[in-house]
Amino acid sequence: MSEDTIFGKIARGEMDANIVYEDDLCLAFRDLYPAAPMHILLIPRKPIPRLCDAVEDDKELLGHLMLVATKIAEQEGLGDAYRLVVNNGEKASQSVFHLHLHIIGGRPLQWPPG
Ligand code: C5P
Repeated sequence: MSEDTIFGKIARGEMDANIVYEDDLCLAFRDLYPAAPMHILLIPRKPIPRLCDAVEDDKELLGHLMLVATKIAEQEGLGDAYRLVVNNGEKASQSVFHLHLHIIGGRPLQWPPG
């Protein structure tokens, strides 16, 4: 698990991305391989590899991410129909080890996911 990742490079402005939101703590960009008509990735600027690596001091940051996700969903016209996903760890399909929230919507979403 490398400390630096493609998302770290995007956060530092070293790699292009289709950014839809940014502030001092986080940024969001469109997923290159969307799983739905709307698929945005929201990342903290701080490179936390997995959700389970977050610590008590990250509490405000994690809350901020959740609230920003709702703002982005509104901004992107998803109404109240969207899903937030965090894949934690390789066996749960995490492939980029920089914490990210998937914001997915724009089509009917089934439950449970695979
Ligand atoms: O949760 P997971 O780590 O699998 O999610 C990584 C996401 O990053 C995937 O949805 C993938 O499509 C996306 N991705 C991307 N641009 C890249 C590499 C991966 O948008 N260059």
